[in-house]
Amino acid sequence: SLSNGQPESFVKIPTIKFTKLFINGEFVDSISGKTFETIDPRNGEIIARIAEGDKEDIDLAVKAAREAFDHGPWPRMSGAARGKIMMKLADLIDQNVEELAALDAIDGGKVYTLCKTLDIPYGAANTLRYYAGAADKIHGDVLKMSRELHAYTLREPIGVVGHIIPWNAPTVMFFAKVSPALAAGCTVIIKPAEQTPLSALFYAHLAKLAGIPDGVLNVVPGFGPTAGAAISSHMDIDMVSFTGSTDVGREIMLAAARSNLKPVSLELGGKSPLLVFDDADVDKAADLALFGILFNKGEICAASSRVFVQEGIYEEFEKKLVEKSKAWLVGDPFDPNVRQGPQVDNKQFDKILSYIEHGKREGATLLVGGKPVGNKGYYIEPTIFTNVKEEMIIAQDEIFGPVMALMKFKTIEDAIKSANNTKYGLAAGIVTQNLDIANTVSRSIRAGIIWVNCYYGFDSDCPYGGYKMSGFGRELGLEALNSYLQVKSVVTPIYNSPW
Ligand code: NAD
Repeated sequence: SLSNGQPESFVKIPTIKFTKLFINGEFVDSISGKTFETIDPRNGEIIARIAEGDKEDIDLAVKAAREAFDHGPWPRMSGAARGKIMMKLADLIDQNVEELAALDAIDGGKVYTLCKTLDIPYGAANTLRYYAGAADKIHGDVLKMSRELHAYTLREPIGVVGHIIPWNAPTVMFFAKVSPALAAGCTVIIKPAEQTPLSALFYAHLAKLAGIPDGVLNVVPGFGPTAGAAISSHMDIDMVSFTGSTDVGREIMLAAARSNLKPVSLELGGKSPLLVFDDADVDKAADLALFGILFNKGEICAASSRVFVQEGIYEEFEKKLVEKSKAWLVGDPFDPNVRQGPQVDNKQFDKILSYIEHGKREGATLLVGGKPVGNKGYYIEPTIFTNVKEEMIIAQDEIFGPVMALMKFKTIEDAIKSANNTKYGLAAGIVTQNLDIANTVSRSIRAGIIWVNCYYGFDSDCPYGGYKMSGFGRELGLEALNSYLQVKSVVTPIYNSPW
């Protein structure tokens, strides 16, 4: 019951209003005059041509952000005043939720209803409000010195910040980066992914309407090796925060080290395990496992791409998975019944299919799926492999698609060992009613977030980030706010001190 091939659109697709770079409060052409196409993954057609930023445009944006940081009102106004403007931006986002959701859906192949009910109201508006509320609570400490000295710390914004984000969650990534930076009093240059620039430019327009001063938020679409590299190697950017692949993360860190030693925050790939224990409700666990790998068509860094099931319930679990995966509807992301849209582009589509072929050659068994859906656009069937060995490529590499590696385990110790048998350490899921198992396993897995009897339990207040080669630094929560703040100690002698 695949709906691909049904009428093209169930929602009115908005006309694209913003296609230029947003620098110093204005929409401008790129200096080179070049543009690039952004594609609708439902059919491969061009949605719009977008101004292509390069090094010279990044230089202009940095100049504007530097001026806004060194002399502008943003870092100097009260936290409450910054928070008020951010709240206004959040309200404007809520007022434009349908148009914004449609932009992410058409640009990224994301399910429209989820963009409308999750990405925009939570990932954007509520994250902004969370940090807006924190903006007037940034303060240092009075220190307990051991000698005749009075000392305190100040928390100051780190300065001009560069943000480089991926295409799988254009809105959520934009605000996970920009909101804490703005609350801290930083100024920003953000480069959206070349696949999904549309909503970012709309947010720039709304930021201006909300009263964010010129130069504080600059949005420069472009490609990684040009515009992206210009950010990571820039001598006048004080920090860079990146989300994307581990390979590019390494490039960013090298460029930061070779230029001005700017600190970096890296949120990279994953191969996250979901562990299902014998005492689990098999039906619910199967739902969770499918949701963990198929949500956002598997294009999510925390996807539960490795599912380990204890042997006592393995067979029943496998049967449920097959049934449920057949009822999972793939098709036009604007169709309200559809749960999975197209992969973001041609490149990801080909990459996922070649991993599926590789899995077959390695000797794993295709339990369900494995093929494209329909004959246009980048749709792929929910795909599950069994008879997977942990050393196989499909159990080690981040595929970033709707492809699950299903495996079996005997003991708790085996489960922990298998879960940690990866170079990554972003997330993990545990399904059990046994508190001892839940607590023991949570502490034993080297990953930045553990979901017990749930998956993708994200929240503005909940820090998120990697262990091992999934990177370092944390998004969201007050942890993220602190990463945009410098700590400065101020020390003075007190009366009659020998100093
Ligand atoms: P990518 O890492 O190449 O791109 C992410 C961002 O980095 C984009 O904005 C891109 O323009 C920029 N970029 C690329 N090269 C750069 C460079 N040399 N310097 C500075 N910036 C650069 O990701 P991709 O090619 O779009 O996807 C490839 C794979 O990465 C995916 O299949 C997936 O495995 C992984 N990925 C992970 C995440 C995540 O959230 N962890 C997100 C997207 C992709």
